[in-house]
Amino acid sequence: MRVLKFGGSSLADADRLLRAADIIANNAQQEEVAVVLSAPGKTTNKLVAVIESAMRNGEAELQIKELESSFNTLFDDVKAVLPNIDGAAYENQVKTSMSQLRQFVHGISLLGMCPDNVNARIISKGERVSIQLMKAVMEAKGLAANLIDPVKYLLAKGDHLEAMVDVEASTLNFKSNPLPEKHVHIMPGFTAGNKKGELVCLGRNGSDYSAAVLAACLRAECCEIWTDVDGVYNCDPRLVEDARLLKSLSYQEAMELSYFGASVLHPKTIAPIAQFHIPCLIKNSFNPQGPGTLIGLDTGEDNLAIKGITTLNNLTMVNVSGPGMKGMVGMASRVFGAMSASGVSIVLITQSSSEYSISFCIEAEHKALAQQALSDAFELELKDGLLEPVEFTEDLSIITLVGDGMRTSRGVASQFFASLAEAHVNIVAIAQGSSERAISAVIPEDKVSSAIKACHENLFNSKHFLDVFVVGVGGVGGELVDQINRQQSKLAEKGIVIRVCGLANSKGLLLDSEGLPLDNWRDRMGAASEEFSLARLIALVNRNHIINPVLVDCTSSEAIANQYTDFLAAGFHVVTPNKKANTASMAYYHQLREVARHSRRKLMYETTVGAGLPVIENLQNLIAAGDELEKFNGILSGSLSFIFGKLDEGLTLSQATAIAKDKGFTEPDPRDDLSGMDVARKLLILAREAGMALELEDIKVEQALPPGFDASGSVEDFMARLPQADEYFQQLSAKAAEEGKVLRYVGEIAEGECRVHIAKVDENGPMFKIKDGENALAFYSRYYQPIPLVLRGYGAGTEVTAAGVFSDVMRTLGWKLGI
Ligand code: ADP
Ligand code: ASP
Ligand code: MG
Repeated sequence: MRVLKFGGSSLADADRLLRAADIIANNAQQEEVAVVLSAPGKTTNKLVAVIESAMRNGEAELQIKELESSFNTLFDDVKAVLPNIDGAAYENQVKTSMSQLRQFVHGISLLGMCPDNVNARIISKGERVSIQLMKAVMEAKGLAANLIDPVKYLLAKGDHLEAMVDVEASTLNFKSNPLPEKHVHIMPGFTAGNKKGELVCLGRNGSDYSAAVLAACLRAECCEIWTDVDGVYNCDPRLVEDARLLKSLSYQEAMELSYFGASVLHPKTIAPIAQFHIPCLIKNSFNPQGPGTLIGLDTGEDNLAIKGITTLNNLTMVNVSGPGMKGMVGMASRVFGAMSASGVSIVLITQSSSEYSISFCIEAEHKALAQQALSDAFELELKDGLLEPVEFTEDLSIITLVGDGMRTSRGVASQFFASLAEAHVNIVAIAQGSSERAISAVIPEDKVSSAIKACHENLFNSKHFLDVFVVGVGGVGGELVDQINRQQSKLAEKGIVIRVCGLANSKGLLLDSEGLPLDNWRDRMGAASEEFSLARLIALVNRNHIINPVLVDCTSSEAIANQYTDFLAAGFHVVTPNKKANTASMAYYHQLREVARHSRRKLMYETTVGAGLPVIENLQNLIAAGDELEKFNGILSGSLSFIFGKLDEGLTLSQATAIAKDKGFTEPDPRDDLSGMDVARKLLILAREAGMALELEDIKVEQALPPGFDASGSVEDFMARLPQADEYFQQLSAKAAEEGKVLRYVGEIAEGECRVHIAKVDENGPMFKIKDGENALAFYSRYYQPIPLVLRGYGAGTEVTAAGVFSDVMRTLGWKLGI
């Protein structure tokens, strides 16, 4: 005998119901089957709404009519496929149910309340409708069908809405009233009967439990739960895009998962089947060929220490504390006794080791009951100040990791908490079951989505998401977007999903939390008119629970640089080739790092010096290893490297600058380069990296123009006036040449001072050969001397710079990349 249970989702319309019927018929051909059915679709919710409306408005005609018409449509649609179906019993069931409902509604309106026994009879009507329809379908398919009345067969204890079945007594009922052979047995789920023969319900979503109980009573070979997903996933597939389907679970794992919120299976389901070692298979009625998930013996095929992550929402934490609690015998039992006496179930308990407080979570709807029960039970202690007023913290959730293998693997808890910290989740309380099979954290409810995504990403080695927002989409920014576009599919093969979720410039903003299509992004950007706003980016990230947002600032804007702290605090990593933030005041420099550390985000700025050359990384590595920078000199500007190189070849300054400008090597206004300020900023960044507390004003700057040169007016005016500087440079060059030297525009750090100036370099100096736009940086340190560590290569250009920014973006993933 196999027991097959179909949930509401598998019976929601004629098409689904007929698929379920096919599955039943196929199984029935091979062996005897008993079927347990839920109410179609959301029928039970609608029946609950009937009760609510009856209590609130004294009537519920609208809801009843809607239900009636949905049942009629269901039948008509089935009949369209199975014209020979006999609808008499079904129609009769619907009619009687509706008229009973109307009577109940009338009763409720008179009473002004709905007693539990009436409530149970109302909310279980949907299941009765399902079984009549399935019986008719089976018969239309030529199969004999028999209805099992759970009120007669399943003996239950407990209240009318949350009863538990006595499997032993119920088994005897099946023995004394055996089911007829060669029939498809169909039982409505969700209900049983009490000692008085009254109908009782088994709790919302209780049809899974009905199936388990029936399987136990009949000692079935297997209990199959047919639903709308392929089996049990390691996370709720609605919350996590790439949730992983599990092949098998132990009974205990399944119990913990369902207890802590995996709604695919009701928590009560496991005990009866585990008791008789009945395997339970979770299958998808939309994909019957799929293997499903087997609950019973863990086959080990998944090879996972952690099987799943679940969440339970709508919780309130109760904290009972006070000086009177210390050492007071029986305190816990009084607290929990008060809860149980008032019917409040406790979801999770933590106790501080000082015995000063007891905290536990309850369902939010029980708060008032709990409050009353505690103030009654501890009236005196509260009055005497032995207990503090009981605290209630609302809007909480529990996130739980479940897995048998956690007992033997180390570091799971630390990874769990690190993931929660990464998702900016504040942990309210922690609990670990003594079986070490589950570990739970109580967290604010609005953080559940981010928390589950971060845990799934980190604990299951699943895909890593990088969601990039590029501000400034001209040269470097634009090239970066193109590079991302080209690289996306290759990274996806390695499990890294990189998406551009935002593009912005001074004229417009494009946003899409799912990632913007990148093929024609320039056209779309051209048409975008929405203004850039920090708040909009942050709101998008929060709303969509994006856990790895990266702001890439490719502008040279001071205003954006001043907002990095806000972005970091809001959970963004910041990647920037913009030098403004790192060369602002020392106070802001420290603040940036403090905020980044506090919010566990990365601030990456490798491309601010030497474009794509790994300058910052190397310097940081040296310093971290205990080295000290003693001296530095370098050519830090691609445009000045080009211009000064051309002077060697006999070109004048104005000629060299004009060529550099034409080739796009200079800033649009060449004065930005010739003023030396760009080099000064780079030098300051290096000096600060090496531990020097300097401000931009502390850098001594000799401009790459003759002293007192009039650099005013428009770019054209300036370029027209530039030949007046040629003479000065020709003389300087000639003098250098006499000494066998060339002119180079260098940045220097020596003896605690930073200087940017025109230097004469002889052929043995590392800068002698550096021209044509190349950069070279010579670090003299405690370990690197007298021969310095030299980094050399193109230090400008949109492609290398964008590639450097791209690699910074990737590095925000840190250890997750295995680097
Ligand atoms: P039914 O109507 O068949 O009883 P339910 O809605 O009660 O179906 O349960 C199936 C749903 O459980 C799935 O659609 C899925 O969204 C949800 N669910 C939550 N957690 C999990 C999980 N870990 N694995 C599979 N499904 C889950
Ligand atoms: N129909 C009932 C409910 O929705 C029982 C079930 O479907 O499991 O709660
Ligand atoms: Mg269910």
